[in-house]
Amino acid sequence: MLQGKTALVTGSTSGIGLGIAIELAKQGANIVMNGFGDVDGAKAQISAQGVKVEYHGADMSKPAEIEDMMNSATAAFGGVDVLVNNAGIQFVSNVEDFPTERWDAIIAINLSSAFHTTRLALPHMQRQKWGRIINIASVHGLVASAGKSAYVAAKHGLVGLTKTVALETAKTGVTCNAICPGWVLTPLVQKQIDDRAAREKISAEDATRELLQEKEPSLKFTTPEQLGGLAVFFCSPATDNVTGQSWASDGGWSAQ
Ligand code: NAD
Repeated sequence: MLQGKTALVTGSTSGIGLGIAIELAKQGANIVMNGFGDVDGAKAQISAQGVKVEYHGADMSKPAEIEDMMNSATAAFGGVDVLVNNAGIQFVSNVEDFPTERWDAIIAINLSSAFHTTRLALPHMQRQKWGRIINIASVHGLVASAGKSAYVAAKHGLVGLTKTVALETAKTGVTCNAICPGWVLTPLVQKQIDDRAAREKISAEDATRELLQEKEPSLKFTTPEQLGGLAVFFCSPATDNVTGQSWASDGGWSAQ
């Protein structure tokens, strides 16, 4: 379905971003990957789908590096047809103790980076009258949890950005939607499980059960592969007229 198209997925060396990059590659899209950590391992998994893969190590908190990444994608593939804004970090603390540099980093990486990639990707998408922007927000783009002020603010902001971009591009063949996962068992969530286990002096297994019971009625994690499937759905002709939406995959969390 996506042969000849190029998808750029920020934060695609791990977790959800990697899962989405693999599913888009299975549909034939060439991939521009980004993120830190095990770049070679992630690149091998995406390349195994038989598509071209380019890597750019832009730090999503740095607009000049984001601009360089977008220029490199254009040089390599002619432009970005599918943009997935996925890179994100988390930090948990009450507002009065929240380190200001952590607040700034979360807003920059989880929200402002999507503004920069979007503004730089749109001219090409609008010229060719087709484009897909998929923002990986969170159930925390729809509801809040204590201790996550920066994350919740950034994700609500990303849902707002999604709606505005959808309105501005409504007549252009470009759609912009958000995916809002509940719990997904990735390194980002494993850290929260480990912190809970240490804090409450319980096993990782018990901490995992508690984490799910507290918020997610299905008591199940969504998988990166399932979120990749949703991203593919938002690239399909069935969703040509779906824009500005926030689709939760949260086992009922936001229905409560
Ligand atoms: P993860 O930690 O497994 O992956 C995060 C990715 O972002 C990695 O590739 C990392 O290298 C990259 N990254 C981090 N900081 C970066 C920076 N400054 N510049 C470039 N890349 C950077 O986390 P994940 O759980 O896969 O999260 C991916 C996205 O999904 C995030 O936006 C997160 O908020 C969102 N999300 C996750 C969950 C969950 O339960 N895991 C739920 C809802 C939403």
